[in-house]
Amino acid sequence: MLVLSLLLIGSITIAVLYIIYIKRKLASDIAGRKQSEQREQNRNHVLELVAHGAPLATILDAIVRVVEQEQPTMLCSILLLDNEGKHLVTGAAPSLPDFYNDAINGIEIGLGVGSCGTAAFTGQRVIVADVQTHPYWAAYKEITTKAGLGACWSEPIRSASGKVLGTFAIYHHQAHQPDDEEIRLIEQTANLAEIALGRSRADQALKESEKLLSDILENVTAYIYMKDAQGRYLFANRLLRERFAAPMEEIVGYDDNKFFDADTAAHMRNDDLRVLQNGVMLQAEETNLNILTGVMHVFMTVKLPLRREDGSIYALCGISTDITERKDIEEHMQHMAQYDALTHLPNRALFNDRLQQAIAAAQRNKAHLALMFIDLDKFKPVNDTYGHGVGDLLLKDVALRIQDCLRESDTAARIGGDEFVILLPTIGTQQDASKVGEKILHALNQPFELAGHNLQISSSIGVAVYPKHGVDEKLLVKSADIAMYHAKKNGRNNVKMFQPGMQEISQ
Ligand code: GH3
Ligand code: MG
Repeated sequence: MLVLSLLLIGSITIAVLYIIYIKRKLASDIAGRKQSEQREQNRNHVLELVAHGAPLATILDAIVRVVEQEQPTMLCSILLLDNEGKHLVTGAAPSLPDFYNDAINGIEIGLGVGSCGTAAFTGQRVIVADVQTHPYWAAYKEITTKAGLGACWSEPIRSASGKVLGTFAIYHHQAHQPDDEEIRLIEQTANLAEIALGRSRADQALKESEKLLSDILENVTAYIYMKDAQGRYLFANRLLRERFAAPMEEIVGYDDNKFFDADTAAHMRNDDLRVLQNGVMLQAEETNLNILTGVMHVFMTVKLPLRREDGSIYALCGISTDITERKDIEEHMQHMAQYDALTHLPNRALFNDRLQQAIAAAQRNKAHLALMFIDLDKFKPVNDTYGHGVGDLLLKDVALRIQDCLRESDTAARIGGDEFVILLPTIGTQQDASKVGEKILHALNQPFELAGHNLQISSSIGVAVYPKHGVDEKLLVKSADIAMYHAKKNGRNNVKMFQPGMQEISQ
């Protein structure tokens, strides 16, 4: 009986214990589920902050606070590695005392530099269950004692590529070894911090590259713009806004008809369509009027299509460089290479070119042309008497007088000090050429009024006719030169037509 009673009591006790166990287990399962649901909610809250682009400090603060709310015995911190990768700076540590945060802020990472300094340095999790006895904390005993800290577990926050970005740390007031659940919490929180930091870094990198691009676009000495498929401006850089004398909002959405005359706008639209429809890059020299200054400008314009990822074209980008000045310099240099600087008449090089062309034309047309050599008589004494400056003025006036005796189609050139040559590309008879020679001789014989001086000079002129006196450029030049030499020999101040016998005299 006793045995039976004992067995019964034993069974009842076991049953009661089992029920208590089941109840507790159920309660702890429910609590566990509630805790993980709460953790999920907290995590989502942080992710929402990240998605909405909240400031990094706000997000890091939220991360720390949700852990501390969930586990009130924990004090958390997020420290960030500086750009140099050498120092830790405070990201969020709202529950640690200020003096403690101040002491840690800027600390140089290294082996044995507390839990975080070591974790950041080694890239490994550092669990210090008792900061008062652990060698990593030996140097910080004073502040940990003052802050009442017992344990510090630190997890490195790593980027996707494995680079250490900072640390997430959990402190306790008492010495404490983490269990598996707490280790998971450290890992998960460090991952969340990594998402926030990654986003913040990407935002920062994007801002920096946007700023760089904007600095280039706004400061470059070229007009840069984007136009949509309809030719409406999407963007105009600073230089172009200045040229249009309009702010961005008065340019964007408008086409070239607002800024140029109808013809120019139509021409530009034509070029744009070639780029937009054919997808080709276009390079062209454009000349158009600056509506502000009324000055014509020359531009080198490059237009290129802008494509979506699938290759379709949605806009174009144009880059125009003002090359007016360069063009002016080029033209000036070309002029200098072909014209005499003093009289602005063509020089020998240009004259030879024209003579060659005229001979070729005369040959084709079986026509005649005349070549004339003019050398001023006793020009040296003018320089000697009145000075080189007056001599220059005289040469300039001589050039004008010669030109006055010629037709538009004739060419007069200065080929030396006081030497001029004239090309009459179409003459009827030899006498026509002599007449022009006489006319020039007479014109140069008239007195010159120069710098208050009254000057009288004369000239010696030799004439040769193609093809009679030379069938090519070289022979013709030689004949005209010989004729001029004879004019000099003949007492100066006269015109000599080349004659075959002259050659021997000069040689
Ligand atoms: P001739 O009657 O024999 O032609 O004698 P000329 O004194 O005219 O002497 P010549 O034609 O041989 O020399 C031309 C002179 O022109 C030589 C030089 O002192 C002068 N001269 C050459 N170039 C320039 C120039 O650019 N400016 C000036 N003022 N004088 C020049
Ligand atoms: Mg002379």
